[in-house]
Amino acid sequence: MKFKSTRDSNVYIDSKNALLKGISDEGGLFIPEEFPKLGSINHMMDMQYKDLAYYILGKFFTDFTPEELSACVNGAYNSTNFSDPYIAPIRKTSDRYFVELYHGRTSAFKDMALSIFPYFIQTALKTSEEFDNIVILVATSGDTGKAALEGFKDVDNIRIAVLYPQDGVSSIQKLQMQTQEGNNTYVLGVVGNFDDCQTTVKNIFANKEFNKKLNEDRIQLSSANSINVGRLLPQIVYYYSSYINLLKFGEIKNNEKINIVVPTGNFGNILAAYYAKEMGLPINKLICASNDNNVLTDFINKGIYDKNNDLILTTSPSMDVLVSSNVERFLYHMSNENTDIVSDLMKKLNEKGRYEIDDSILNNMDFMNAYYAKEEEVNEKILSTLLNEKYLIDTHTAVASVAYDKYLKETDDRTKTLIDSTASPYKFSKDILKALDIDTNNLNDFEIMNKLHNITSVPIPKNLSSLQNKEIRFNEYSKKEDILNNIKKFIGDNNNA
Ligand SMILES: *Cc1c(COP(=O)(O)O)cnc(C)c1O
Repeated sequence: MKFKSTRDSNVYIDSKNALLKGISDEGGLFIPEEFPKLGSINHMMDMQYKDLAYYILGKFFTDFTPEELSACVNGAYNSTNFSDPYIAPIRKTSDRYFVELYHGRTSAFKDMALSIFPYFIQTALKTSEEFDNIVILVATSGDTGKAALEGFKDVDNIRIAVLYPQDGVSSIQKLQMQTQEGNNTYVLGVVGNFDDCQTTVKNIFANKEFNKKLNEDRIQLSSANSINVGRLLPQIVYYYSSYINLLKFGEIKNNEKINIVVPTGNFGNILAAYYAKEMGLPINKLICASNDNNVLTDFINKGIYDKNNDLILTTSPSMDVLVSSNVERFLYHMSNENTDIVSDLMKKLNEKGRYEIDDSILNNMDFMNAYYAKEEEVNEKILSTLLNEKYLIDTHTAVASVAYDKYLKETDDRTKTLIDSTASPYKFSKDILKALDIDTNNLNDFEIMNKLHNITSVPIPKNLSSLQNKEIRFNEYSKKEDILNNIKKFIGDNNNA
């Protein structure tokens, strides 16, 4: 299996290179040259999550030896990293199923891929002729940064620096990062918003002088964001595991098609569901759920992508995204792998913030539906799900559940439906209590979590409750213009990591 680029049909590289580079030189994203067909699910029925991961990822990472790949899979999907033996367990309510993707080390769905991603990078680095060390640089709006820090902490030959917006993350998310352990980690608050963080990171990647100096020292600058194939492909596994579990529990029949609803931000998670469909998993519709930042709703329904709106800060911050980076890959597939079309659309997005796709491409997308949820609908959904179903969902999952209601109302399609549950409710306790109309005035984060626990009896994840006793290691804030110097200092101070 080789990897191609969405913008240049001459690119053809193996997975280890795609992993280390992250993004193609001309700006395109890496794409597997074909979708491996997995055929019938029967031979996978007895596989545990890690066996399934080994089997599916082995179809893509063919330049990994069997020993390398099993080390990656075993290191990632085990009981140290995941608190639930199913890794991605399924909960049933009266008319829908939820797959809980938040039982990893940081209680967010990002752990599903970021628990294995560092092993991929480390393995790829070992056979690299150019580089001995990697510096991972991440701009985060909350979940990615912490999940990446946990994944990469104390991994040999790798250092990780995370930038977060001073006032743009929840207080629990901030505490998760400020208390980060590991001798190769660095966390910096940025005076500014998420865009400032992301722009700074992009500028550092584009800084020729800085990168040249690093490369002379055999250091490669790399990122952990969701455009890397090492983030994207592991997400296919839980769609297979979910299907297998539904089958095992007698909820569906063999080959019965299911719908999948995905609360979407950067379009990585839903793209992985599309990959699963292409690989042969019986999927009927994919339903793309957005919050008030509903750029994707218009894109999927009308074929118009327009990011010229102000970003709205919602209670589902991981979906507060205007430029969904993995849409580029989707355009590539929907345009029948036309790199000229993709390059042209991405240029328009960059210059005008807007593009329109042809009807022929739009017609290829007819297996995907899109809806968005307003904040008051999200709140109502959290409340009604708890009251009627005795089930607690977080704000992102509630967005998806509202989208599914709208889909049901519009289509009356009774296909069994799986909803991605992407965060532990305890990461957003305050907003959830507000949705339940419960006062949180004068309570600190831990009192708020306890209050939610007392009402619902849902256990608080240990990684969150234990934050209370952890030492703050990073409480530095930096102005945009000082960030590069801080990063240089971290790399210099930490030169033997
Ligand atoms: C990242 C994230 C999403 C969005 O996933 P994408 O792959 O970026 O579409 C949704 N919910 C939560 C909780 C997340 O952390």
